[in-house]
Amino acid sequence: MVEQAAFSPHPPVGPRSAEAFGRARRVFPDGTARVTIERDPIPRYMHHGEGAFLVDIDGCRFLDLNGNFTTLIHGHAFPPVIEAVTQQLRSGSCFANPTEIEIALAELLCARIPHLERIRFVNSGTEAVMFAIKAARAFTGRPAIAKIEGAYHGAYDWVEVSQAATPQTWGDPEHPAATLYYRGMPQTVLDDVVILRFNDAEGARRLIAEHAGRLAAVLVDPMPSRGGLLSPSPDFVSTIQETARRHGILVIGDEVLNLRQGYEGASARYGLAPDLFALGKIIGGGLPIGAIGGRSEVMAVFDAGSGRPVLPQGGTFSANPLSMAAGLAAMEALDRAAFDHLERLGDRLRDGLKRIIARHGAPLNVTGAASLFRIHPRRRPPHEFREAFLGPREDAVMKELSRFFSANGIALPNAAAACLSTPMGDDDIALVANVFDRFLDERAALLDTLKGE
Ligand code: PMP
Repeated sequence: MVEQAAFSPHPPVGPRSAEAFGRARRVFPDGTARVTIERDPIPRYMHHGEGAFLVDIDGCRFLDLNGNFTTLIHGHAFPPVIEAVTQQLRSGSCFANPTEIEIALAELLCARIPHLERIRFVNSGTEAVMFAIKAARAFTGRPAIAKIEGAYHGAYDWVEVSQAATPQTWGDPEHPAATLYYRGMPQTVLDDVVILRFNDAEGARRLIAEHAGRLAAVLVDPMPSRGGLLSPSPDFVSTIQETARRHGILVIGDEVLNLRQGYEGASARYGLAPDLFALGKIIGGGLPIGAIGGRSEVMAVFDAGSGRPVLPQGGTFSANPLSMAAGLAAMEALDRAAFDHLERLGDRLRDGLKRIIARHGAPLNVTGAASLFRIHPRRRPPHEFREAFLGPREDAVMKELSRFFSANGIALPNAAAACLSTPMGDDDIALVANVFDRFLDERAALLDTLKGE
């Protein structure tokens, strides 16, 4: 266990963050520039990052288990990325012409990821998912998609459907409802989305077959983070694959987050062979990025040939050289040894947390794989979104867990995937285990409110 003697707990609100938030409230709706910013009760404003650590503007230091929503697989200020971006910046930040560096990043990704034969770069995971869906529509000539209830895929309307499903709205488990994400969402959007439940192979087979004539694609993240970061059953994966293939429907693997599960990505890890991929996060080395890739035959919809492509895809900053340079430096450093290191640390952490839970007899559970983990306020491990859904009591426990971690110098995302990064080592894992152990000791009464879960 790591010595904690010299550490005094961080306050929930530092005076400088409070002052910054006062200014921010005068210019941003609700004081933040994105809905995902955590606040307890206000956001912590960051000053800088160094390797596995963050330092806020009040001087508090944190082990970073968020990594900007799992993007920073090498932690902060990774020297090869700084070097590559600085060099590129000196030679120009963007051109109306292609650069050789985009070819190098494309070659690396196509060489590593099975079934990824052709690729196009964009600037976010949202854009990648959007173009993958448009490509599937253009290829099949069909409008609708199927997606997993509760899974997050960014801000394209069709993938927002049922992203925020609740027990009040999600409906019959045999026919999950397509639920609104925002008031005024067009009914035509809802009509073109079929909702599947994660790990319900039989339901997926039935619903895909029922809507086959109008489905362009089944969109799957092999381990949806907001859906619970739950392991896919082999039966679920093979059913999606086979049912889609039988009906001429494409499979889109959303690996924006889960590419970090291995050298070849998450689909390869779980036996999924997507026709199209959406990528993002780690492939940009910390700069904005997204990519659509897949089988040449399908990616041909982007091919202008001698005329107009079936599906035009442009973008002022698509394949911009800064993101390409940062991404190439980060991905080259992510060799098999780096993935082995992350896998070992992740196994060690998940096993350690499970042992601590068992020792305390606490009503908690840990899911995840490779460098990802999520703690659930449930005695039995959930298998799908509905089982992982947080009611008010569970929500209160998870918020207190993040608060306790924060006070003890660890940034732990609430109700989302937490992640490790390559600069972390066994001491960092021991620190997380130590703080978790103390949480179970010191908040036993709060955990008792979950009894019966
Ligand atoms: N798909 C998945 C699985 C994601 O996790 C995210 C982002 N968290 C996105 C798509 C959207 O990516 P971005 O935030 O870069 O638009």
